[in-house]
Amino acid sequence: MHTALVFAPHADDAAAFCGGTLAKLADAGWRVVVVRVTDDARDSVGLTCEETVRRNTEELKTAAAIMGIADIMELGFPTDSLADVPETALRERFVYALRKYQPYAVFTFDPFAPSEGNRDHVCVAQAVEEAFWVSCFDLHHPEHFQEGLAPFAVCERWYFGRPVSDQNHVEDITDFFEKRVAALAAHRTMMQNTLNQLLLQLRTFGRRAPMLEAAMADDLTPLVAAVLHEQTTAVAAAAGLPPDSKGEAYRVVRFGDMEDMVEQLSEPLPDMPDAH
Ligand SMILES: [Zn+2]
Repeated sequence: MHTALVFAPHADDAAAFCGGTLAKLADAGWRVVVVRVTDDARDSVGLTCEETVRRNTEELKTAAAIMGIADIMELGFPTDSLADVPETALRERFVYALRKYQPYAVFTFDPFAPSEGNRDHVCVAQAVEEAFWVSCFDLHHPEHFQEGLAPFAVCERWYFGRPVSDQNHVEDITDFFEKRVAALAAHRTMMQNTLNQLLLQLRTFGRRAPMLEAAMADDLTPLVAAVLHEQTTAVAAAAGLPPDSKGEAYRVVRFGDMEDMVEQLSEPLPDMPDAH
């Protein structure tokens, strides 16, 4: 069975950007693994860094269980500071993860998304893009081979973003929408911080939103459900899926410009599952 590897800069990224698809793949028998790149030590409101790390880690475990995620690889880089980490250092960890888990597909932010405003997202996306080909080289990080690992090439890259540029695939997640909502709402600490940013901006704007203030102290599920409903319904409708469907948008890259040539030249391996 295939493996999907998610390179998530932060604990909530998997649920926030591709949670329905991950739950769908896990339900179909795929092994889904999340590489959590940072420690999320500052993503909270009114807590210490230690308590923030503890809560965000626990909430990720809850969300992962809801989505059917089999394993979480913690890299522990300082959050919101990946711009200070050499890309080659990030890349080495990603190459290691690719060689260890041997995924058929990776999921991450689009390295070429023009409107991504989060540097951690950009740094991870760019390092994954490099790790994609560096992981094939037997002269890059040969120390990995002492653990029994080998050069490895992932087949498909599924890029998400806000919004996805050059989108070419919408995954129908209608049957897994509730899981995505529950998984994202499980990240209560990070969702409260997201909401707090909005409330602070509103204050500067000279307004307040009592409904959002009340949501801060309450169960965030209804709010998360409403936001995701609107977003995924619009994606599904634009893709021509049946009414009331819900979708997640991606730019999926396999062989790129070489896709036609590869289709013509290749034939099935006898001992591999058919992914299509
Ligand atoms: Zn993030």
